Amino acid sequence: MKPENSSIENVIIIGSGPAGYTAALYTARANLSPLLIAGSLDPKTSRIKGGQLMYTSDIENFPAGVRAELSEDEFQGLHLDSDAGADYIAGLTGLSGPNLMKRMEAQARHFGARMVEEFVTEIDICSAPGEYYVLQTQSGKEYRAHAVIIATGAAARTLGISAEEKFFGQGGGVSTCATCDGHSYRGKNVAVIGGGDSAMEEASYLARLVNKVYLIHRREEFRASKIMLKRAEENPKIEFLLNKVVADIKGKPHPAAAHNKFFEGKENVAAAVLKDMQTGETSEVPLDGIFVAIGHTPNTELFKGQLCMDEAGYLIYDQHLRALPSPTCENAKMRSLEYVPGVFVAGDVADHVYRQAITAAGMGCAAAIEAERYLAENLASEKGIPPEALDISMQSIAQSHWSSERDAAGDKPVIERVEEVAEVCAIEHNK
Ligand SMILES: Cc1cc2nc3c(=O)[nH]c(=O)nc-3n(C[C@H](O)[C@H](O)[C@H](O)COP(=O)(O)OP(=O)(O)OC[C@H]3O[C@@H](n4cnc5c(N)ncnc54)[C@H](O)[C@@H]3O)c2cc1C
Repeated sequence: MKPENSSIENVIIIGSGPAGYTAALYTARANLSPLLIAGSLDPKTSRIKGGQLMYTSDIENFPAGVRAELSEDEFQGLHLDSDAGADYIAGLTGLSGPNLMKRMEAQARHFGARMVEEFVTEIDICSAPGEYYVLQTQSGKEYRAHAVIIATGAAARTLGISAEEKFFGQGGGVSTCATCDGHSYRGKNVAVIGGGDSAMEEASYLARLVNKVYLIHRREEFRASKIMLKRAEENPKIEFLLNKVVADIKGKPHPAAAHNKFFEGKENVAAAVLKDMQTGETSEVPLDGIFVAIGHTPNTELFKGQLCMDEAGYLIYDQHLRALPSPTCENAKMRSLEYVPGVFVAGDVADHVYRQAITAAGMGCAAAIEAERYLAENLASEKGIPPEALDISMQSIAQSHWSSERDAAGDKPVIERVEEVAEVCAIEHNK
């Protein structure tokens, strides 16, 4: 039996990383009263409330969120009045990952987003596409929504040795993101672990900043494309250590402990102990940082058999951030659709290229505007949502205009990519 409309949320957002909180902020400001299912409070899961940035200390590349001390002259150059200036400086110093996420949460709540600290264990997308979607959480609660924004993120793969956990994030010296943390290793010696394109890219990127990069790979063959491999091989700052795995990581007292209480009694990376895969011998390489680049796993288990994914499990979407149906979905009507109406994707769950907080937040904003437009256009009258609940803002109207212009112009690169990858998805799922 079809549920009463009143028991159906306008929009549910799954995930509380930068993508989820930004989507919540925008849909809340559009009067949609969004419900955000935030994830778990357990820090040991990839579903931690706040997302991946909960594991890092300084965020220096989120606009307006840098950790920097400005000189009096630089400060004057900003032409801020003194009160705003004081706040600005306070914001500039010490913006940690958890701090940034708390601010995002507070801002979304302030504008009316509702949140539950649970994780989704099941979702039914296939049964009634375009009608409503049913979600279940770990406490057994059931939620229904006309629109869903999937912002479940991804988790970097790790080496799985205990020392790695000890030194991971918070200035410990083990990282999974060169773009994020490479800046802290200027003039130092680091290692990149992995043999794929990401490892080559991270090594080449780091070589521009650091003194030396060791590229450590367990085999002699590489998954990386020839061009990426060649670029890394030709870089004089990169030395390849092949047939080796990191067996252990040694630490030294954290140098920041002298002036920052947070680091008292803590250690950071001093060396990697390597095991040779052919001889079994071990050796030690002195290092300041270790970048693990062995891939990411998108949090898409929930959507298998319902939504289209690429080989690595990333969700595929069209130019309106709409998810595409899986060819193995049980409902034939769903299989015949070009996209899944009302289901949008945002952030690292669908982006294996940029993987940054700002790009995730940008996608969260875009997915929210698309969801708002979808609800306004397709559901308001049909489903009896009171028009006043939908603030069809100038943003939406502009967006409609912009979209039709964009469609008319033919957004070739995006469409081609969607078609190409959807084909891969079909092949994968039909195997
Ligand atoms: C150590 C580290 C340092 C980084 N540093 C930087 C940096 O300095 N600058 C930068 O721009 N980027 C940085 N990044 C990358 C950045 O964190 C990600 O790009 C960004 O967090 C992606 O945001 P997201 O919202 O897409 O997903 P995530 O942050 O991964 O959030 C996903 C959310 O989904 C939730 N979730 C997952 N499954 C479920 C479920 N079943 N039910 C409910 N909720 C669920 C999780 O709880 C989480 O809240 C760093 C990443 C790491 C790991």
